[in-house]
Amino acid sequence: MRAVGLHRDVLVVTSRIWQTTCTVVREGVECFVIDSPVLPDELEMLPAVLEHAGFHFSGLLATHADWDHLLARLAFPGAPLGVAETTAARLASEPGAATRELRAFDDEHYVVRASPLSLGQMQALPVPGHCEIGDAEIELHPADGHTADGMAAWIPWAATLVCGDYLSPVEIPMISEGGSRAAYLATLRRLAPLVDAAEHVVPGHGEVLDGARAAAILREDVAYLEALPEGDLPIARRSAAQRAIHARNVASVQAVS
Ligand SMILES: [Zn+2]
Repeated sequence: MRAVGLHRDVLVVTSRIWQTTCTVVREGVECFVIDSPVLPDELEMLPAVLEHAGFHFSGLLATHADWDHLLARLAFPGAPLGVAETTAARLASEPGAATRELRAFDDEHYVVRASPLSLGQMQALPVPGHCEIGDAEIELHPADGHTADGMAAWIPWAATLVCGDYLSPVEIPMISEGGSRAAYLATLRRLAPLVDAAEHVVPGHGEVLDGARAAAILREDVAYLEALPEGDLPIARRSAAQRAIHARNVASVQAVS
């Protein structure tokens, strides 16, 4: 696990699995953890990372309902968890899905955890909207299309965008069940002005980007999606794993047309 400070109030922790990112943001005496690392040792270390940085933990946020972004609950069992209304609806419509998918991942990779994932109480946040933290606000923007749900978080005082599973330097756009090309493109258009204003962009998977690099990935991703089912993969994202995602995207787009 890697931890990088982007700003005096923003830390990003990156998991060894899928380079999944977890962003820690502070304002005054409050601190939120957005998304999560994946492996048990990484989750165990998370409270100590916050403590070492002098951040006083207040609560959890998750960008969307995919299980690999929901695991901070294991590190902070009693904490409030804020999600977009769309994410709360998706979690309610597929009860236990995240727990089952985590168990399947752990079985496949022989990962042992002290306890199963139980998401417990959640707070559904109106999106677009904002989330108060200390004397400031984190802006919440709708981010669907990868899945049916989701939000991106804009941290104005750090000019940092935490966008969930968009703008990844390691993963092509993934149109999962519930997602769509049209919604994905609409989200990228919505994120574009934030990317232009951003000093840092934290994708759900992969290293933190500066605004210019994120804008370049955004242009590549728009071109890739608009060309589907034709076209080729972005040049830096053409591994066998990315080609498998591409094949599922092609099937998804052809099912719609
Ligand atoms: Zn993800």
